[in-house]
Amino acid sequence: MEPREPAPRTPGITGSTFPLIAIDGPSGVGKSTTARRVAERLGWQYLDTGAMYRAAALALHRTGTSLEDRSALERLLAGLELSQEGGRMFLRGEDVSEAIRSQEITRLVTPVSADARVRELLVDQQRHIGSRGRWVVDGRDIGTVVFPQACCKIFLTASPAARARRRFLELQAKGQMPDLEAVLADLQRRDQADSTRAVAPLRKAEDAEELDSSDLSLDQVVERIVARHLAHS
Ligand code: C5P
Repeated sequence: MEPREPAPRTPGITGSTFPLIAIDGPSGVGKSTTARRVAERLGWQYLDTGAMYRAAALALHRTGTSLEDRSALERLLAGLELSQEGGRMFLRGEDVSEAIRSQEITRLVTPVSADARVRELLVDQQRHIGSRGRWVVDGRDIGTVVFPQACCKIFLTASPAARARRRFLELQAKGQMPDLEAVLADLQRRDQADSTRAVAPLRKAEDAEELDSSDLSLDQVVERIVARHLAHS
């Protein structure tokens, strides 16, 4: 028998019917807000995987567990109870949605999310959650590692300047007095760490559609993702 040519691939479509929209991309690009809105539009559920890594970092921080102390880390991970409901993140039943957004946790989550054991556990939990029902899931490795069979994959980008500006305005709206240069430096630090780590680095899945949102409004980004999904489902 003649070897078959691989089927041509269309960006953003895997040919899979697995009902999950994966939205990956760098920090501060608006993945969470976008993913939540896409989920609302479609009547699907939304999973914020970044919040799970942040909650794990908070648990380590609160218990003073070091990533180097492997047996303490194993114990902590064995008892790590995470859940999301109504857009809130819970750690052992406690609503930690605000606590996980502090500057300290934002700094700590980078090494925590680069740890292979932490990722193994959280990826297992994410697969378990996403395997039932219809989900919009955002993160860094959703289309590449967690759900490579997702029916629709989006790699959301925006220039560092556009991302820093959005984050700056978001912090201002919360009553903080951010420094634009510092916000930009923090985004660049996280981009660099997320894309160069050994385990599940941030990268676009081969069959993901790249969507540059630098000059698009949130509504436009949501519309494009929903339209793309509906056109191919
Ligand atoms: O999306 P968010 O910025 O809340 O994610 C927090 C951190 O968790 C990111 O900086 C990244 O290092 C990590 N992360 C990850 N894989 C994911 C989601 C988030 O490594 N799927």
